Amino acid sequence: MSPAEEVKSRLDIIDVVSEYFPLKPAGANWRARCPFHEERTPSFMVSKSKQIWHCFGCGEGGDIFSFVMKQEGLEFPDALRLLADKAGVRLKAEDPTIRSERQRLMALLEAAVVFWSEVLWREVSAKSAMSYLVEERKLKPETIRAWRLGYASDSWEALINHLVKLGYKEEEMIKSGVAIRKMETRGRGAYDRFRNRIIFPIANTSGQIIGISGRTLSSSETEAKYVNTPETLLYYKGQVLYGLDKAKTSVKQQNLAIIVEGNMDAIASHETGVANVVASSGTALTQDQVRLLKRFTDNLAFAFDADAAGSGLKPLLKPNQCWSIISAEPSRSTILRNCRTNRR
Ligand SMILES: [Zn+2]
Repeated sequence: MSPAEEVKSRLDIIDVVSEYFPLKPAGANWRARCPFHEERTPSFMVSKSKQIWHCFGCGEGGDIFSFVMKQEGLEFPDALRLLADKAGVRLKAEDPTIRSERQRLMALLEAAVVFWSEVLWREVSAKSAMSYLVEERKLKPETIRAWRLGYASDSWEALINHLVKLGYKEEEMIKSGVAIRKMETRGRGAYDRFRNRIIFPIANTSGQIIGISGRTLSSSETEAKYVNTPETLLYYKGQVLYGLDKAKTSVKQQNLAIIVEGNMDAIASHETGVANVVASSGTALTQDQVRLLKRFTDNLAFAFDADAAGSGLKPLLKPNQCWSIISAEPSRSTILRNCRTNRR
């Protein structure tokens, strides 16, 4: 039996789909509103006996793998890995299907995050980073660990040297976004993108690291406050929400997602026990991000600092969706709201 067949034999498509949104029984099948197209009456059907899904609205359909690929935005090898984990099927490391380039880059980012975290906890040079997190932002040590925050020291090659030791190639470091090619050496040599920065790992909905956001500790005006990995094979800006991997369960339970601007705001909120919060990471919310959230809830609330950010959201939000925009300005608690938030 191939690993894919074994995974299929151990998992029930009904359970897997139900982890993303509720299914209702419909005769011999189960149904829901289709996550892949806009609709009011459910035409997304799942068959327990055949272990397949099909949408009579948009015509999409397939098996457990194609569902997870579409739902999570994964390629087959990554969907196989995710479902194999769920099914308790061990994949051999040398299995060619899981040695995709994406997988390799994810492993590289994972190694980088482990490295930066160790620097934060162990190295003297990270003292100001730690005091920023603990004293200024009042984060608990367990929060810092849970969000896997780290520190990139003020060095041009600390990470690169570490990754070389682990067997990664310079080309891979550049492709993953953690290193930048040196301009003056005609395509040879690279340096660390993140220097003297607090590291916020950016994860996909499954919790795999796909990108990095780094906040500077320098007070220099010329230094960008945040530096992110550029768009890579793994990371498409505007298709990720910071913290969604940690917030998704609570978003589903509360049937409400609260979107804040800053990564640190999301972390602080989770620390106080409000866990249905994600961050747009300071950029304007995109349609893809709204779609991502709609897998878990139809109700969105925006908690932004100023009216300016809120007004830019209006064109994105559809009238048949429930949303509200909460302004932190004391004069108005809610500036926009299109319907009563339908909380379960
Ligand atoms: Zn559909």
